[in-house]
Amino acid sequence: MSIIVRFAPSPTGLLHVGNARTALLNWLFAKKMGGRFLLRIDDTDAARSTKAFEEAIYRDLAWLGLAHDGTDRQINRLSKYSAAFYQLQAAGRVYPCFETEAELERQRSLHAARKLPPIYNRASLEPANKAKWEGEGRKPHWRFKLSRSKVGWTDLVRGPVEIDTATMSDPVLVREDGAFLYTLPSVADDIDMAISHVVRGEDHVTNTAAQIEIFQALGAAIPSFAHFPLLVGAGGEALSKRLGSLSLESLREQGIEPLAVASYLAKIGTSDPIEPRQSLGELAAEFDFARIGRAPAHFVPEELEALNAKLLHLLPYSAVAARVPQGEAFWDAVKANLTRLGDIEEMARLINGPVAPVIEDAGLAQKAAALLPPEPWDEATWGAWTKAVSAQTGARGRGLFHPLRLALTGLEHGPELKKLLPLIGRDRSMARLKGETA
Ligand code: GLU
Repeated sequence: MSIIVRFAPSPTGLLHVGNARTALLNWLFAKKMGGRFLLRIDDTDAARSTKAFEEAIYRDLAWLGLAHDGTDRQINRLSKYSAAFYQLQAAGRVYPCFETEAELERQRSLHAARKLPPIYNRASLEPANKAKWEGEGRKPHWRFKLSRSKVGWTDLVRGPVEIDTATMSDPVLVREDGAFLYTLPSVADDIDMAISHVVRGEDHVTNTAAQIEIFQALGAAIPSFAHFPLLVGAGGEALSKRLGSLSLESLREQGIEPLAVASYLAKIGTSDPIEPRQSLGELAAEFDFARIGRAPAHFVPEELEALNAKLLHLLPYSAVAARVPQGEAFWDAVKANLTRLGDIEEMARLINGPVAPVIEDAGLAQKAAALLPPEPWDEATWGAWTKAVSAQTGARGRGLFHPLRLALTGLEHGPELKKLLPLIGRDRSMARLKGETA
């Protein structure tokens, strides 16, 4: 069987880390299995979908590195949904409903007051009601008639799942204005695109029961399903509260590496340790539905930030060359001190200046300046030089290194001086040791 999955975002907002995780898990599974990853834009909600959000989806997925093997918009495919609708109608599985939103709301509160489950009562199936409402000239919306029986599947994350569709309302497929809601187009597309695995968040588990009945009513094969627990915030709160700062666009603007995002999203909520990987291919090779746990995955921005730093510390120069014009020796000197790649600007300043030196021990700085060896310098220079300074001043340990660091960089902490010194060079080192800004 060929593996085909899809990521099906609605272009009604920016992709956030939760959406990105859905996209990523689909992509990783497809790559691991040698399958295909399709991008389906769920834009049947014309009032809320925008071209700008659609473009942002393409941009964000490209940034993450999740190339797709095909894409389409639902708005291009409405005739397929009509065909599926008529097929269901011919099979007697859809029926017109005439209740207004206010009437449905009243019904829901009545049910709530009587502690009954909030299930649609199928009043529109009563011939008398239907005749009356039709007579009033009401326009219908259309519902799918659930079988009110048990629907089961073996979920690749949750194991065996069984849902009694008698516990659910018949889902509305078509609105009064003729627009399709999500439920039917999704199934029609999954059939048409030969989707083998539907991989999505567990907020869709109930939908799946209804959708399986629709697959069956349309005489189609039922795909496999994998529903993973949703992402929540550090304290278990819904992520929707602060989606702004958790959009991919915002992470990109904050200078977080796409591979840090991918590594984090691939590993949180799984039995694997959260560690950076240097390629999506590595993440794909390690992907396994069986490793995804049943508890919600906690998205902690500080963890992502730490992972970003860890990733930068791992990366060879070749992985960043296009973004680090300062060269390989620079990269090797500073990478261990980066949290974000953008920090290289500050690191470059430590080398090229201007650095306002802090002279803690003027006598020591003066002697150190006089002892600076002639160039060329390399990583051994620092050791030989500080040894000579120590011999002449008697300073050792922190008493030696701390004033030299403050004089050379103006900072308490920073990259390893043995790597930094040859990059700073003799002229600037000399000037800084003399207290001059250089
Ligand atoms: N557009 C739907 C959503 O974003 C797709 C769900 C699905 O994967 O079927 O929730």
